[in-house]
Amino acid sequence: PKSPLQQLDAAHHLHPFTDSQALHHKGARVIERGEGVYLWDADGNRILDAMAGLWCVNLGYGREELVQAAEQQLRRLPYYNLFFQTTHPRATELAASLATLLPGDMEHLFFTGSGSECNDTVVRMVRHYWAEQGQPERNTIISRHNAYHGSTLAGASLGGMKPMHAQGGLPLPGIVHIDQPYYFGEGGGQSPHQFGLQRARQLEQKILESGPDKVAAFIGEPIQGAGGVIIPPDSYWPEIQRICRQYDILLVMDEVICGFGRTGHWFASEYYGLQPDLLCMAKGITSGYIPLGAVAVGARVAQGLISGGEFFHGFTYSGHPVACAVALANIAVMQKERLVERVHDDIGPYLQQEWASLGSHPLVGETRGLGLLAALELVADKSDNRRFDEDVGAGVICREHCFELGLVMRAVGDTMIISPPLVIGRLEVDELITKARQALDLTYQTLMK
Ligand code: PLP
Repeated sequence: PKSPLQQLDAAHHLHPFTDSQALHHKGARVIERGEGVYLWDADGNRILDAMAGLWCVNLGYGREELVQAAEQQLRRLPYYNLFFQTTHPRATELAASLATLLPGDMEHLFFTGSGSECNDTVVRMVRHYWAEQGQPERNTIISRHNAYHGSTLAGASLGGMKPMHAQGGLPLPGIVHIDQPYYFGEGGGQSPHQFGLQRARQLEQKILESGPDKVAAFIGEPIQGAGGVIIPPDSYWPEIQRICRQYDILLVMDEVICGFGRTGHWFASEYYGLQPDLLCMAKGITSGYIPLGAVAVGARVAQGLISGGEFFHGFTYSGHPVACAVALANIAVMQKERLVERVHDDIGPYLQQEWASLGSHPLVGETRGLGLLAALELVADKSDNRRFDEDVGAGVICREHCFELGLVMRAVGDTMIISPPLVIGRLEVDELITKARQALDLTYQTLMK
C-alpha cells in the first residue's frame, strides 16, 4: 500500500524521466535524508548512493561547509543578477577561481543555472561568434548519437537519445549526429585503436557532407555518462582534435559529469590532452547542493565575444550568488582535502581494481572505468558476449536487486553504471562491490529461472 506521501505524490506530481504508470502502481521511492555516501528512505533503510545523486554529490551529503556558505550568502545578498554591467563578488571570485583550474587558455566564464542551459548557451554562443567573424552560414553543430546534453530544446537536440528526439520533433535544424565510440557494443572485431580512429573520422565525413564552411562546432562528453559510461579508445580524442583544427571547427567539451575531479583530474580534457574552445560544467561545481552551471570560454571565442557587442543571452539565475558561494566553498573543500589527487592516486585506482573483479561473474561481459566512473556490461552468454533480448530488461532487474540490497546503481539498457561521491572510503567501496556482486547473483537467479 502507498503511504500518504506516496498517495499525494501520485495525485499531484509529474516526475522527470519516469514511467508515470509504473509510479502510480508502486508509489515513488521516498528519500528523506543523506549523510556522507549514504541515503535513508522513508522506511529507514540505509542506501549506499553509488551514483552521487545524478553524478553530482561529489562531496557527499551533509557537508556543513557548503551549508554555511549558502546560509551566509543568503543573509548577505540572497539574489542579484549579472545583467547590464553588474556583478556581485561571489560570481567574479568564482570566475577567477575557475580560470585557474581550467585547462589551456580558458580564462572567461559565462554562468548559467544548469547543464542544459550551458549547452543552449553553447549553441547560441558559437553561432554568435561565427556571425561576428563574418561567417553566419557556419551554424551547423555536430554531436553524437547516444550523447546526453540535457533536456531543453537545444540540449535534447544536441543529445543523441532517440526516445527524446521522438517525443517532440527533435533535433532542431542545424544539429547533426555521428556515431559514438562504444567499443564493447559496436567495435565489430576491429582493434580498439582502429575503431577509435574510424569513429573519429566520421566527424570528417560529416564535415565534408555538411560543407566545411557550414560547420560551427563539434560537441562531446569526454566520457559519455548517461549513454553508459562510454570510455573512448585512446586514439579517439586526438583524432577528433586534429580534425577540428584542420577544418577550423570549434571543439566543445561537455564536462557536466566529467568535470570537478570525477576522472582524477579537475577536467577530463586534461586527461585526454584536449584544448577545447568551450567547456561546459554543472553538477559537481556545487556538489549538486544548489543549481549552477558555467561555460568556460577559451581566448579565441572570448575575444570574439568581447569585441562583438552585446550577446543577447542570459538567465535570471545565471551565477546566482548563493550558488556561487556554495561553488567557492566546494572548491575550497576539494583543495583542502586534495580530493582530485585522492581520486587519481588512491580511491580511483582502488575502486577500479575492485570493480574489475566483478568481471569474473557469469553475467558480466566487460568492466571498464576511469577515476570514480565505472560500468559493466550484462551479457546472456559470456563466451561470445551475446546480449539479452531487450524485452528481458536485465539491467532494470539488476538495478531493482541493488535497491533491495541498499545500493543505488543505474541501468542504461544492460549496462550497469556507477559514479560515487569523491569522498567514498575504502570500506564503502568494499561494501559497494559486495552488494553489486550480490545483486548480480540475484539477477542471475531471476534471469535463469
Ligand atoms: N550534459 C551532460 C553531460 C549531462 O550528463 C547532463 C545531465 O545529466 C546535462 C548536460 C544536463 O544537465 P542539467 O540536468 O543540469 O540540465
